[in-house]
Amino acid sequence: RLQGHELDENDNIKVVVRVRPLNDREIANRDLSAVQVSEDDPHKMQVVVPGPKGATMARNFTFHGILSPSSKQSDVLKMCGITQLLDAALAGFHVTIFAYGQTGSGKTFTMSGREEMIENDDYSGDTDDGIVTRAVLYLFEQIQKRNNGCKYSLKASYCEIYNEALYDLLRFNKQQLAVRWDPNKGFYVPDLYVKECHSVADMLQVISRGMRHRKMGSHELNLESSRSHSIMTVHCDASPSNPEDHDYGIPKFGKISFVDLAGSERVKDSKSTGDMLKETSSINRSLFTLGKVISALADTQAGVANTAHIPYRDSKLTKLLMDSLGGSALALMIACCSPSVAHVDETLSTLSYATRAK
Ligand code: ADP
Ligand code: MG
Repeated sequence: RLQGHELDENDNIKVVVRVRPLNDREIANRDLSAVQVSEDDPHKMQVVVPGPKGATMARNFTFHGILSPSSKQSDVLKMCGITQLLDAALAGFHVTIFAYGQTGSGKTFTMSGREEMIENDDYSGDTDDGIVTRAVLYLFEQIQKRNNGCKYSLKASYCEIYNEALYDLLRFNKQQLAVRWDPNKGFYVPDLYVKECHSVADMLQVISRGMRHRKMGSHELNLESSRSHSIMTVHCDASPSNPEDHDYGIPKFGKISFVDLAGSERVKDSKSTGDMLKETSSINRSLFTLGKVISALADTQAGVANTAHIPYRDSKLTKLLMDSLGGSALALMIACCSPSVAHVDETLSTLSYATRAK
């Protein structure tokens, strides 16, 4: 089933595609663009695949939203419905926002913007800021201006999964962290550092430290950073400011996980053969399992599968995201792709993965 399900504004998993502009190298190579975003319908796009003897074949795709190469970083929150997701987290829901795509397709740019931007201490906002920074600014603005009888507190953690090993990006000591199971809490990481953030500056420091350590880790441990997943989680605790005030009921513990996934180029083969594929050592287990989990969730939600076994336990990433995918949780997948004909195979592969998720 590669058609995906009908689009529904009430879907718990939404899928948006972002097509980055051709980069300088692609322009220098005179690469043509194989991807066309519909001008009339914001849900439709087409990929033109070159065939033998100059023939072409067009493939059409439909998603909850499409960000064309001319979209700006400042458009992303609105066009992806991210402010609603942040509001939901403040109201106690669990939310996941993840970027999927081949290496170089714009995942990190979309999630985190340009790294160098937030490295300076007097940071004050930049047009290239990614989703995470904008989300943090929005959350602090909201908790300061909301006058709804709730007291909020925000905390953050930042970790990385490389080769099924989990590392803390805020306490950079190359120690692997254990993931444990608790019948009440679900999967959790006892030793993960969770920083209380009292201000935007505290939270921006978490972002820049995490990003810097992700980069350093790939140098020092000689890892290929394109194969790691990073997860920044913002916890939004809300409790009644006046405990006597029963209108606001019980404390709520919302959270948002921002996930910058490993490059998808190595899972390519898993899509053509779908669920029949046997996992091979060349496939990133977490990315592979995530695909199975979200496609099982989409089937369950569409009613074409009932309480199917959802294989959360098969990888570290899906264990960590178990309480933020499925159930009442809300998820947004941003599938990133290059427009260039040179990457058309990867792009089709990304779009079919994205199609299975919706
Ligand atoms: P990935 O994380 O998927 O490997 P990156 O986010 O690092 O890819 O993007 C690769 C390069 O393309 C970076 O130099 C980035 O700044 C640039 N880039 C990606 N998306 C865009 C975009 N929408 N507009 C401008 N530049 C972009
Ligand atoms: Mg990246």
